[in-house]
Amino acid sequence: MSEQQLRRHSRETRFASVDDVIDRLNPSYPVFCVFPDILRERAQTFVEGFPGTVLYAVKCNPHPYVLRSLWEGGIRHFDTASIFEIAKVTEQFPEAHCYFNHPVKGRGALDSAVDVYGLTDFVVDDMHELDKVIRYAGTDITVEVRLATPKGRAVYNLSAKFGAPPDDGVALLKEASRRGCRTALAFHVGSQCLDPDAFRIAMELAMDVAGKADVPLEYLDVGGGFPARYKMDVPPLRDYFDVIRETRDRLGITVPLMGEPGRALVASGCSVLTQVHLRKGNDLYINDGIYGCLSEIRDGDLDPPVRAIRRKGEALAGHTQPFRIFGPTCDSLDVLKLPFHLPDNIQEGDWIEFGLMGAYSIGMQTGFNGFVTDTIVRIDGTHSDFDF
Ligand SMILES: *Cc1c(COP(=O)(O)O)cnc(C)c1O
Repeated sequence: MSEQQLRRHSRETRFASVDDVIDRLNPSYPVFCVFPDILRERAQTFVEGFPGTVLYAVKCNPHPYVLRSLWEGGIRHFDTASIFEIAKVTEQFPEAHCYFNHPVKGRGALDSAVDVYGLTDFVVDDMHELDKVIRYAGTDITVEVRLATPKGRAVYNLSAKFGAPPDDGVALLKEASRRGCRTALAFHVGSQCLDPDAFRIAMELAMDVAGKADVPLEYLDVGGGFPARYKMDVPPLRDYFDVIRETRDRLGITVPLMGEPGRALVASGCSVLTQVHLRKGNDLYINDGIYGCLSEIRDGDLDPPVRAIRRKGEALAGHTQPFRIFGPTCDSLDVLKLPFHLPDNIQEGDWIEFGLMGAYSIGMQTGFNGFVTDTIVRIDGTHSDFDF
């Protein structure tokens, strides 16, 4: 979208609160709500607190409103994995710095990344991939070797598919350096990582690999994995920054650090407004589900805060009880597994707002059965009162 289109579009889709969305749209369809103020504030927190350069992992939520708010909060670097993501960032922000951080790149994508977008940083975890990257990008590039790390206490393992074992990492660094490339190291401790110490362990592993390879490093990229505050015991972000800073100082790491947060930057900055279309006893049938924006509630067992709302902004209060919630598709799997505690008088036509839905939500919709959450609004006033 051009700046002008974006401005026009955002005038039409700007609201003061979620209650204002309900008053003005009376939506029987799901509405994805973006809170730019929260996103800006999260970006500032990261840029000020993280001891290095902050890259936003675009796959987490690539919507232009989200990218815009993070940019306003000071994010200038982007972890991108496809030409689509690179284009989306670069078209909106020509001065942005994109890194091609997918360890397996198609030749056409590599060619465009180099020729059209001028990217110079490429992740590899395999010798054939290194060859491929050099063939298209030459050697005046930074080769970021991605290491596999122990899973630790993360909800999702991001080393089961990608990442070189330490010995392969040493060989890749040596070969990239021998061929004249600049070299760097990267890892990902796993998404929604609940243990700050995982970063210490991974940084120690990375520096061990760097020592054995004995090549100069451009930077050490500690990846993403910083958690959002779903209903689980989540250490504060500050603990992660402290561990990373302390480990850097203790190991005498003098090269710049980089980080690639996705979830922790955007989760609290969006919510999904759904409507109850039928109540059968303690089962609620709503209009978004696991094939739409809510797949992580099943796949990650993530427990977002919820709020029930009736027309005219009347908050549904009173006694709560557990409900099972079904999504809109015909598939019996389309159910949100966890019980949700909602007011016992909830009925058809009431709305349920799911908070903390900024990460891995609109970007992961399938469109299955014709259900798509395609109304996306920005809310420039009151935030919903969730306890993050
Ligand atoms: C997904 C991903 C991220 C973001 O991870 P979060 O857990 O959302 O912080 C960062 N880097 C890479 C390489 C990724 O694949």
